[in-house]
Amino acid sequence: MSGFIADGLARNFIAGAWVEGDGGDVIAVEDPGTGQHMADAAQAGEASVAKALEAARASFDRGDLADMQPSDRGRLMLRVAVEIRNLADEGANLLCRESGKTLEAAHDEFEEAAQYFEYYGGVADKIEGKSIPLGPDYADYTVFEPFGVSAQIVPWNFPVSIAARSLAPSMAAGNSTIIKSPELDPIGLAMLGTALERADVPAGAVSILNGIGADIGAKLVASSEIDQIVFTGSVPTGQAILRAAADPVTPSLMELGGKSAAVVFEDADLDTFIASLQSGIFYNAGQVCSAMARVLVHRSIYDEAVERAAALANGLSVGHGLENPDHTPVISALQLSRIEELTSTARQSGARIAAGGTRLERQGYFMAPTILADVDPASRVAQEEIFGPVTCMTPFDTEAEAIALANGTEFGLVAGIFTRDLARSHRVACKLRAGQVFVNEWFAGGIATPFGGVGKSGFGREKGLEALYNYVRTKNIAISLKG
Ligand code: NAD
Repeated sequence: MSGFIADGLARNFIAGAWVEGDGGDVIAVEDPGTGQHMADAAQAGEASVAKALEAARASFDRGDLADMQPSDRGRLMLRVAVEIRNLADEGANLLCRESGKTLEAAHDEFEEAAQYFEYYGGVADKIEGKSIPLGPDYADYTVFEPFGVSAQIVPWNFPVSIAARSLAPSMAAGNSTIIKSPELDPIGLAMLGTALERADVPAGAVSILNGIGADIGAKLVASSEIDQIVFTGSVPTGQAILRAAADPVTPSLMELGGKSAAVVFEDADLDTFIASLQSGIFYNAGQVCSAMARVLVHRSIYDEAVERAAALANGLSVGHGLENPDHTPVISALQLSRIEELTSTARQSGARIAAGGTRLERQGYFMAPTILADVDPASRVAQEEIFGPVTCMTPFDTEAEAIALANGTEFGLVAGIFTRDLARSHRVACKLRAGQVFVNEWFAGGIATPFGGVGKSGFGREKGLEALYNYVRTKNIAISLKG
């Protein structure tokens, strides 16, 4: 294998070659399940960024992807999907160990990545413009053009599937792409690079750089050599990137954080809700932008819901990701401290710890599955993204109150409704300030359904056909037929 070699170093993938870090620098990667060093990633510096930019521009100018027959571009992407699946077992093992997630979840990431390439590969020859009637003296039509060079910054919680989520539509549209991998778990992306290489993606059309966000990430997004930024990550980093994009006026897509609420009405099926709670806040140890971070429950069933949520949390099996337990570690010691610190403020603001509340004393970075009850909606735990296995439960009395509480943060990524009343589910869904609303199943939807936020959760959409149009720009061509 070329990307991740037996010597334990994941190299940068630049201009179709696997290269060491500038000056031989490396990023040490830990296994969060043990706290032990597991591998290194070659750390890109300024020279690597310049090389990737040059290769991306040259590939775009040659028309490697943009001028390829669109159906051939689609077939190339289907080959990438095949190669991703070929590498999925090996990749999942590495991703599991570097991220802490279960082996099964890591495997799902590779599967999902393959599906992104299939989905967008299938539409590469269907990016159709329209013809606009201007009368007999003109022929007028629109064409969709790729931006050119797309710089994509990826977070650590789902590095492989999120990278594929942005790369696949970018490639389908004919852009060159430079991906900056997350410093905490960059190895899985070396596997993605290996799949691109094996599928014969033209050299320079996609590069993957491992490096520090505040260093080369910041340099990449501030460069006037890029034509688009796709950022998935936290609000403060998104804000810094938007400031950097202001000078060169670089179009940007922002997929940021969340503090999403489930609204559980009095007629909800509690079994359904509890099953959703498990995936909603404990999948990937709650390190999910669209996690069920808040739960608003009708007062008539509130006590029962809290009791069942606590029993769920207390009953989860805990272990290293390789064992496929219910509950896994968080990504790092720092992340664990942040989660624990924010969770500890709950008690001072009047909340009750119904389950968990602190780290688990064991090897690795484990936060106890935590249920906070009677949470004041104005408190820090209810307003700030915790990004860990901690949810906040609060009772409500009326539908209007539930909507106001659900909409009562500066975020607006997703929301959920649990009810058997179809009319109410539609009425409330329309009032919720969120890019996506789940009814009776948290995370319902998939790669075909548009995803993205409002407010500080960002703007633009990923997934689905809608996302494709974030990776192209419209040109109108008006031809006078008078002469
Ligand atoms: P982060 O903002 O710390 O880092 C994200 C990426 O940005 C990393 O690759 C990092 O190296 C890079 N980076 C950091 N500073 C940079 C800079 N100045 N310029 C350019 N790049 C820079 O976020 P994280 O901790 O990796 O991820 C967790 C956050 O991501 C959470 O807030 C979560 O909600 C959000 N997230 C959102 C989505 C979504 O689709 N909306 C998906 C996953 C994660």
